[in-house]
Amino acid sequence: MIDLHAHSLFSDGTDTPEALARMADAAGVSALALTDHDTVDGIPAFLAQQPFVKARLIVGTELSCRFLDQSLHVLGLLVDHTNPVFLARLADLRLRRDDRNRRLVAKLQALGFPIAMEDVQAQANSPLLSRVHFAKALAAKGIIKHPQQAFESLLNDGGRAWVPREELEPSEAALWIREAGGVPVVAHPGRFGGGSFVWDKAMKDLRDQGMEGLEAYYGDYAAAQQRSFTALAAKLGMAMSGGSDYHGRNKPAIRLGRGRGSLHVPDALLEGLEARRRERPAH
Ligand code: AMP
Ligand code: MN
Ligand code: MN
Ligand code: MN
Repeated sequence: MIDLHAHSLFSDGTDTPEALARMADAAGVSALALTDHDTVDGIPAFLAQQPFVKARLIVGTELSCRFLDQSLHVLGLLVDHTNPVFLARLADLRLRRDDRNRRLVAKLQALGFPIAMEDVQAQANSPLLSRVHFAKALAAKGIIKHPQQAFESLLNDGGRAWVPREELEPSEAALWIREAGGVPVVAHPGRFGGGSFVWDKAMKDLRDQGMEGLEAYYGDYAAAQQRSFTALAAKLGMAMSGGSDYHGRNKPAIRLGRGRGSLHVPDALLEGLEARRRERPAH
């Protein structure tokens, strides 16, 4: 069993990368990827634990794209976290995020919620501020009861205080990841869409834009979803990945390795992802 999707406090999780690495063995996973949003800053501390951990520690990140007018997440697995071009690209994403965050504070204030950037920063343990930290700040100030409430009508995509962030094109994200030696994987496709949306054609388009894999196993999926994404990957000739999307105490129902309890990602998926990378012509 492996887990190729987890967050530390370098994005919107609550565990240090060191703690995550050390949790891997107890969680019973033979490989664990750290996939913080828009950053690889937690990776050195994560990999430094490798000598003390049996599980293989895998480098990753999670980028946000705009696709069909919705946010689509893409995992960059097995990237080279020291690649200078990739790091410069991530630094640029950070600037866009910082800009979104400033506009989000202004919008919340305009809506009558007295919140400052310092309040948000106080909820985070790294400079990367996510909407999760905004939600926690609103709760800490007593403006709402529970952080999750902030996502019901305020901070959710399209919510009253939502400020769109300039997001990547899927082709751009795939290129960035491939140029850093990684494998671009469409994250939790089961969370995308709605209404009558079906993945068959859209996933083929994403593959044609450079996506090489899809997350067929995920902490939140029903068995039927897992079956349909496994079949879709086979049909399109895409690699499969799988993970819990562990966020520590920020998503307390999700456990490392096991997701909501029934997740079991086969070890063989990692070999498939590595084969993609090996088989790619050098450029
Ligand atoms: P950001 O990257 O700052 O735009 O924040 C995205 C993060 O906010 C996601 O990774 C989730 O953890 C959280 N989030 C976004 N929408 C929701 C929602 N509707 N309910 C709960 N959490 C959400
Ligand atoms: Mn997250
Ligand atoms: Mn995601
Ligand atoms: Mn994630």
